[in-house]
Amino acid sequence: MKIPVVPALLLLSWPLLAAPSLEPPKLRLDGSVQPLRYAAELTIVPDRDTFQGSIDIDVDVRTPSRIIWLNAVGLSIEEAGFRPAEGAPLPAKIAPGGDQFTGFSFDREISGKGALHVVYQGKISRNSSAGVFQLKEDRDWYVYSQFEPTDARRAFPCFDEPGFKVPWQMTLHVPKEDMAVSNTPVQSESAEPNGMKKVQFKATPPLPSYLVAFAAGRFDAVDAGRVGTTPVRVIVPRGKGAEAAYAVTAIPHLLKLLEDYFGIPFPYEKLDSVVMPVSDFAMENAGMITYAESTLLADPARETINHQRELTGTCAHEMAHQWFGDLVTTAWWNDTWLNEAFATWMERKIPGEWRPEWHLDVAAVNARVGAMRQDQLASARSIRQPIESNDDIANAFDDITYEKGAAVIEMFERWIGPEKFRSGVQLYLKQHAWGNATAADFEAAVSSVAGQDVAPVFSSFLDQPGVPEISVALKCGAKPVLELTQKRSLPVGSHAKPQTWQIPVCVAYEADGVVHHQCSVLAEAKADMELAEAQTCPAWLLPNDGESGYYQVAYEGDLLKQVLAGHAAHLNVAERVGVLGDVDLLVGAGETPAGVALALVPEFSQDPAPQVVQAAANIAGLLKTESVPGDLREKGSRFISREFGERAMALGWLAKPGDSEDTRLLRQKLVPFVASVGEQQTLIQEAEKLARGWLNKTQNVSPEMLGPLLEVAAQFGNRNLFNLLRTAAVQEHDHALRELLLAALGSFRDPQLAAASMDLLLSRDFDLRESFYPLLFGPLAYAETRDVPFTFVKQHLTTLLKRLPREVGEDYAAALPSVGANFCDAKRRDELDSFFRDRVKDYTGGPRALAQTLEGIDLCISERQALAPELTAFLNKY
Ligand SMILES: [Zn+2]
Repeated sequence: MKIPVVPALLLLSWPLLAAPSLEPPKLRLDGSVQPLRYAAELTIVPDRDTFQGSIDIDVDVRTPSRIIWLNAVGLSIEEAGFRPAEGAPLPAKIAPGGDQFTGFSFDREISGKGALHVVYQGKISRNSSAGVFQLKEDRDWYVYSQFEPTDARRAFPCFDEPGFKVPWQMTLHVPKEDMAVSNTPVQSESAEPNGMKKVQFKATPPLPSYLVAFAAGRFDAVDAGRVGTTPVRVIVPRGKGAEAAYAVTAIPHLLKLLEDYFGIPFPYEKLDSVVMPVSDFAMENAGMITYAESTLLADPARETINHQRELTGTCAHEMAHQWFGDLVTTAWWNDTWLNEAFATWMERKIPGEWRPEWHLDVAAVNARVGAMRQDQLASARSIRQPIESNDDIANAFDDITYEKGAAVIEMFERWIGPEKFRSGVQLYLKQHAWGNATAADFEAAVSSVAGQDVAPVFSSFLDQPGVPEISVALKCGAKPVLELTQKRSLPVGSHAKPQTWQIPVCVAYEADGVVHHQCSVLAEAKADMELAEAQTCPAWLLPNDGESGYYQVAYEGDLLKQVLAGHAAHLNVAERVGVLGDVDLLVGAGETPAGVALALVPEFSQDPAPQVVQAAANIAGLLKTESVPGDLREKGSRFISREFGERAMALGWLAKPGDSEDTRLLRQKLVPFVASVGEQQTLIQEAEKLARGWLNKTQNVSPEMLGPLLEVAAQFGNRNLFNLLRTAAVQEHDHALRELLLAALGSFRDPQLAAASMDLLLSRDFDLRESFYPLLFGPLAYAETRDVPFTFVKQHLTTLLKRLPREVGEDYAAALPSVGANFCDAKRRDELDSFFRDRVKDYTGGPRALAQTLEGIDLCISERQALAPELTAFLNKY
């Protein structure tokens, strides 16, 4: 048993602020009342719309007061009172506290320790995935909770902030045939009248409210054995056990690797992985991680290599949180990055140890390049930001937090060295186990093992937005020297303000027949770096060694030519992908001529590594962007078809016996690219034929090719194919397959069919949580259908808003302005702005989403002006 007492330090760390006010708090509770322990008892019956709850909260009232404020949303309080440590109990009156708070007021002042008792009723939602909600699988309803960041208050009146970390004792009353799951093992179970049973769980170690979780329904439990003393199970909707085969293999492996990395055994008594029938979701509740069904389960006959990788990455992420996030919790949401960046970094690092052949270092480079595209925007936010509203809390869960954060951690690990960095992580976890910590605590732990203060370097990446660009020139005098100059990398036409960073720069170079590695911090706008080990001028130089630095490189003189000479055989796959990614980004910044970038395509389109071919394809994709005049896009397709077509044709749509994983990956990327972007007719026609064959069950298609195949067929398909896909999607019971069919339905390039797919959002055929993204945003990918989503939203906004769910702290409505994400002209930009400007204020996270969409349109317009002449010249010569 490991149920430690509440650490005294944590309790003392709350300042005693002004006397509690009878006014409700604005954003945060003031800390004048501290929770010590919760005991919650809920009656949950799947397929009902409400639940009954009662909660006892042991509190310490630090400043005498006549009122206790708690977070509560959508709860009807039926009864409440306070039991002081001494003296008679006091009934409480309810004081309204706006939409996030409820006050419990008393007719005399209370102080010191006591227990607040509340009886209430809450809602079990059928259309949202926040708070307590239910989902249907086959004929059964399953109830789940999802609380991060601010939805525990929909299940309990509570102190709903991560800094309040105390033990929770959960008791659930559920129908006797249901299984109830929570953070800890069951302590006792007993029958009750009316076909119910009472399930009492062991008290948890200290947990913040957002990590508390429960689920109830007719689940099956699949045993995945034990790792050390920890029992591991996968909890699936009834009858789905066989689909957990890969999860049951992967999870124990990952758990062992994580225990080794952290040097601390798994912190909780058991690890359950609970499946929810939704798409794209996972949550690191302590001891009870929840996952989307499509992430964790796969029919063994239809399991893809992508699914195995996604499953392994997502599990590693959520499991890493059990230490980094759960055992040690960030004190407030301004350090969400600390949690999410670290777990995102681990989702490639740990599976990479288990499956080195997956080349997850390449995935990390691609993720960095993707984050840089967002981070180049003037409206990009910094990783660490003050939180001033619930909007800010929701906004903190974005790609900047996850992917830029992960890339910055990767850079720091490289700079400090993996062993030292790991010691820093372990020290941080030991120092703050079971409590809360801040980024400063993490930096202090890493600094103490690194033997230098890393905080200023960290801070320059955490507290300001943007991507550093370093131009690198090599001067070969008596001793070779690099001249480094940094600035903020900006897309053409951007107006963001300039700035500098303290950048850990690591370089690799070959001199005198030996490859050397060297790191130093570039703290000024300009500095020289002497290549310490070089006697003669290097043959080649990689200014971002391992491509693990969060900076772009502008190569001066012949440096790019030299580093890519001889098919860049001296670079590993991740490095080749990184260099090509830099070139691609610098075209967008107007710093590398498009012609120079496109000249690299013929060579790297033939690379043996699928990831490098993909990077070359990304560069070739320039020829199909808005920057290419419409009448020349066909020539762009011809270029792509010529450079990549032969390999794509040889691969074909159908797998061949004995294909390696790399071949299968290459086929999956290259064949649809050449068909869709290169508009290669043979592949298009085959796609349609095979898709129809698959739909009428006369054709087998390998699982990883099915999605791309259906999408390409739909892109060039007619009304008849649309109807076939629609019928198949409505009838399909399997989530993963339904996802593929919905993605295909969102891919029609015929504007009338795109509009028809949009109408499905208004029908009751599909759950909006599944259909919203593929159907509404799919048509943005093609010039022919780019206007359809905005037209649809203008026509049907009221109906849509009524039906759209709130999801995990973020409003679906906030995504609506993204219907203009691929616009590239001033007129439509203004239409979008005037339509949404006032409306987005009502959507959580909406104003930022609109600002980013508008900035993206402006940049597209500037990029077109800058690149069109060059691309036109290139294609005219072609
Ligand atoms: Zn996470």
